[in-house]
Amino acid sequence: MIKVCKFGGTSMADAAAIRKVKDIVSADDSRRYIVVSAPGKRNKNDIKITDTLYACYDEAVKVGTCKKKFALIRERFTEIVRDLGLSIDINAVLDRTEKEIDEQRSADFAASRGEYLSAVVMAEFLGYEFVDASEMILFDSRGRLNSEYTDDMVKSRLSGIEHAVIPGFYGKNYGGSIKTFSRGGSDITGSIIARGVGADLYENWTDVSGFLVCDPRIVPEAKTISQITYKELRELSYMGASVLHSEAIFPVMKGKIPINIKNTFRPEDKGTMIVPNEKYEAKEAEEVITGIAGKKDFTVIFIEKSLMNSEVGFIRRVLSVIEHHGLRVEHLPSGIDTLSVVVASDQLKGGVLGDVINEIRESVSPDYVHVIENISVIATVGHGMARRPGTAATLFTALADAGINIRMIDQGSSELNIIVGVANDDYEKCIRAIYNAFIK
Ligand code: ADP
Ligand code: ASP
Ligand code: MG
Repeated sequence: MIKVCKFGGTSMADAAAIRKVKDIVSADDSRRYIVVSAPGKRNKNDIKITDTLYACYDEAVKVGTCKKKFALIRERFTEIVRDLGLSIDINAVLDRTEKEIDEQRSADFAASRGEYLSAVVMAEFLGYEFVDASEMILFDSRGRLNSEYTDDMVKSRLSGIEHAVIPGFYGKNYGGSIKTFSRGGSDITGSIIARGVGADLYENWTDVSGFLVCDPRIVPEAKTISQITYKELRELSYMGASVLHSEAIFPVMKGKIPINIKNTFRPEDKGTMIVPNEKYEAKEAEEVITGIAGKKDFTVIFIEKSLMNSEVGFIRRVLSVIEHHGLRVEHLPSGIDTLSVVVASDQLKGGVLGDVINEIRESVSPDYVHVIENISVIATVGHGMARRPGTAATLFTALADAGINIRMIDQGSSELNIIVGVANDDYEKCIRAIYNAFIK
């Protein structure tokens, strides 16, 4: 039995948390490969090490050295090492790191040092070997993960090593320099290692006892999801449920390795099991929906034209305008004579929106184009919906009863989710209304 364990920022935030990590790792000998994040927030007003490291990079670019900001990094790590009673010369490691950040002038390199230092400390504390992620995780010339090469490297580098600590969040790019994943990317590292060593389980340790039906900041009493499929999780994490990085399921998916979300501060809690899609067990008595998640700040471009559907190439022409501006489309609900293009508002700044509307008018001569801004997109997700008629009706009734105006609806043909667009101001209210309608 091999388990890969990833510990997130709060689990690495200070010596007290790191001691809990050691207890967890020591309690089960199959917990062989430990992936760590950089120290995160110790309290609400604290700053994540990763954020300070990005500031170090900015300082180095501006004034030639990151000395001032790096003092904060030094303080955190020397305190952790001292409180853990370790004898490593952390100042020597920090001196070298500070110099490298000044010399490399790379935001990715600077940001990656949080995980690097965290892993150096953790390896020392556990008495395990430190194995650098940059020796195993490689990106291709277009910046995408080279998964075949990476798989082979993980397998060969870790074979014969009983226990190791590996820094999360980064690998090496094609040219040999350090490249990070997007924020929260240590979850991906854990998944890559789990896949490479052929783990039986990927444990993702964080500060909540699993994936909750929705964001606890919106519904404090939100229940924990005991079991969820890769697909459902992908929908929810993509839509903003930030517990697990939305790309973290891909490496383990290939090997059908389950993920267990666990709480470092309540290790006895079962947490959430993320399982392959076909392992989903339909429990009739259970909830119809699995989870709810959403994102704010979208713009809906609503286009109407009579007999749109009989006009060959209509959608293609609208989309080529969008593509021409390099915009990512989030949703594309359509009716007989209508088409809505939903785009994240931050992509439309600086006059882009006006240009897009004009070009759409020129290209397809619509009867009517209307723009709705400040829209939140909320997804209600669950395999359970497919088997139960009336789910959509329940949802829409709940929103009507709460006085929420639905500005857009998109239901995928897979019946895995129903997506609604509502005003940003109704975001929290909408999630609460859906929660109350479905979760008993
Ligand atoms: P880590 O640093 O361990 O990777 P993250 O901060 O990335 O942890 O993710 C855990 C946080 O995700 C929780 O503290 C919680 O505030 C937030 N969160 C958002 N949506 C959910 C949800 N549906 N269920 C549980 N936690 C959620
Ligand atoms: N430390 C990185 C971040 O803050 C990666 C991670 O925690 O997963 O985004
Ligand atoms: Mg995270």
